[in-house]
Amino acid sequence: MVVAYIAIGSNLGDPAHSVQLAMLAVGGILQTKLVVASSLYESSPVDASGDDYVNAVVKIETNLNAYELLAELQRLESQAGRALPQDRVHVRNAPRTLDLDILLYGDAQMSSPELIVPHPRMWQRAFVLLPLSQIAPELVSAEQLAAVSNQVISRLS
Ligand code: AMP
Repeated sequence: MVVAYIAIGSNLGDPAHSVQLAMLAVGGILQTKLVVASSLYESSPVDASGDDYVNAVVKIETNLNAYELLAELQRLESQAGRALPQDRVHVRNAPRTLDLDILLYGDAQMSSPELIVPHPRMWQRAFVLLPLSQIAPELVSAEQLAAVSNQVISRLS
C-alpha cells in the first residue's frame, strides 16, 4: 500500500456538497482506502474570476500505481460533470465542478506530460497547504505556511 494525498476542489453548484461527495468517492476507488480527511476550507479563486472555492485534502492508502490512480480521479471528475482532459477546451483555472489532484504519492518523484508528482504548484497554494498541514503537520513547515499566509482562506468545518 502506498500513502497518497489528494487535493479536492470545487467552485460550481454546491461546492461543499461536491467536495464531501468526492471524499466518499475517492475512498470508494478500487484497491484504495480513505485514511483521513481534512476540514473543508473556502478560498477566493487564484488568478481567476468566479465563485469561491471549497477545498480539502484527503490521505489515502492505495494499491493502484500513480497513473491508475490519476485515471480513477479523472473518471470521478467526469462523473461530476467535468469533461475528460482530452475533451476539455483548456481554460487555465476555469470554474470546475470538481478538481482532483495528486499532491504526493508515497515519496515518488515523477514528471511526464500526464502526471507530475509532487504536484508542482502545491507549495504556492494556501488552499492546499492548510488542509494538508491539518492532517499531516509533519509534511508542511512553518516557513512553507508563512509563504502563503497572505492568501485569504477560512476553515468551514
Ligand atoms: P487541471 O485542469 O488543473 O485539473 O489539470 C489536469 C491535467 O493535469 C491533466 O491533464 C493531468 O494529466 C495533469 N496533471 C499533471 N500532474 C497532475 C497531478 N499531480 N494530479 C492531477 N493531474 C495532474
